[in-house]
Amino acid sequence: SGKWVKAMEIVKEFEESCRTPISKLKQVADAMTVEMHAGLASEGGSKLKMLITYVDSLPTGNEKGLFYALDLGGTNFRVLRVLLGGKDGGILKQQFKEVSIPPNKMTGSSAELFDYIAAELAKFVAQEEDDFKPTSGRPRELGFTFSFPVMQTSIASGTLLRWTKGFSIDETVGQDVVAELTKALERQGLEMRVSALVNDTVGTLAGGKYANNDVVVSVILGTGSNAAYVERAQAIPKWHGLLPKSGEMVINMEWGNFRSSHLPLTEYDQALDAESLNPGEQIYEKVISGMYLGEIFRRVLCRMAEEAFFGDVVPPKLKEPFILGTPVMSAMHHDTSPDLKVVANNLKDILEISNTSLKMRKVIVQLCDIVATRGARLSAAGLLGILKKMGRDTIKEGEKQKTVIAMDGGLYEHYEEYRNSLENCLKELLGEEVCKTIKIEHSNDGSGIGAALLSASHSQYL
Ligand code: ADP
Ligand code: MG
Repeated sequence: SGKWVKAMEIVKEFEESCRTPISKLKQVADAMTVEMHAGLASEGGSKLKMLITYVDSLPTGNEKGLFYALDLGGTNFRVLRVLLGGKDGGILKQQFKEVSIPPNKMTGSSAELFDYIAAELAKFVAQEEDDFKPTSGRPRELGFTFSFPVMQTSIASGTLLRWTKGFSIDETVGQDVVAELTKALERQGLEMRVSALVNDTVGTLAGGKYANNDVVVSVILGTGSNAAYVERAQAIPKWHGLLPKSGEMVINMEWGNFRSSHLPLTEYDQALDAESLNPGEQIYEKVISGMYLGEIFRRVLCRMAEEAFFGDVVPPKLKEPFILGTPVMSAMHHDTSPDLKVVANNLKDILEISNTSLKMRKVIVQLCDIVATRGARLSAAGLLGILKKMGRDTIKEGEKQKTVIAMDGGLYEHYEEYRNSLENCLKELLGEEVCKTIKIEHSNDGSGIGAALLSASHSQYL
């Protein structure tokens, strides 16, 4: 029928504008490398902030004692405590609790958000068992993983540049987030020192390095996306401080804000961006990360519905922004049942669309595939950009260099098609020989443990 033809035209056109041939991905990678150089050269020199983290050494394995971490980055936040055994001791014991953040706390006042977090932390601390007790006479110490763009002024202070990922509290912007947290801890009557403020990428890098010494890059693919890596301090022209003893500095790229004319963006991406809380910002994040994939998918499906793909009226639920989360999209994408039962059930339960034909459900799966594949391949291209900047995209004569990338985030962890597509694409980009020297490791909750480790190595009581 005419309706079917029209819907298929929309899918075809969308697919065409999402294409990511290797030649294009290499241009994206080169653009990423160029922007990295520009962001390191001067403050404001690039869309990539390339933030200096004040982490000039990663965990050594000698960290010892009880440390807390608090991880705030998306829809959930986590509190954890770890008991570190010191040299060769490893992690003796760890406990964590995950708490969801009520949406009204994400857009209310600064004090409300931080009070909520501090109260949950206080509850968690109150449940500390005897074998977790801190060294006597010392206040407990905390590593604060805060996954938003922050301009650090030291290892334990930094001002918020802007919110991302659905958070929007104007009065916090420009404030020191450690001071905000510390005030909230005081209001709770909880004695605890924040000894490290780290981005989740930096926490993941630290946690990854503790587990595997070859880790030099970390990437988060969760609600949002970001990357960090170990840079030579001398390769950071905008750094005017003393050169650290290690000669190195961890850089928080804030790669979510990358953009390039080489990115294959569609009319749907443009509309999503224009209607978002942060128009014009985080363009790369908006095509690769978990907060947005399901929403892109919904927008295309909605466009098809306007051409009567689901009958004469557009199903009302389908018009609701963000009603289709990436977990649902991934469940449909992974549907292996012969009649695509998972697709049918989700359409019915979430969108109140019933009576779809198998043929229609197949097109819907294809749509998931287009959106996920583009995101995964573009994140592989970004990774190639980092490897190029580090000189690790080639093999040097006589060198046995190993590069391990620590990856974390719900999208990478749970969206298998995405993960596979990313890993295959990276192989394709690097070639067989180089590929053998590069490994991706899933760093399960490395960011929280990493923050605790950095809080230990930057303890004020050493
Ligand atoms: P955050 O990024 O908020 O710190 P996570 O790393 O846990 O948290 O990532 C959560 C995100 O991962 C979700 O917002 C969602 O986009 C994505 N995600 C979670 N589960 C799945 C899933 N089963 N399939 C695809 N994506 C998922
Ligand atoms: Mg996270």
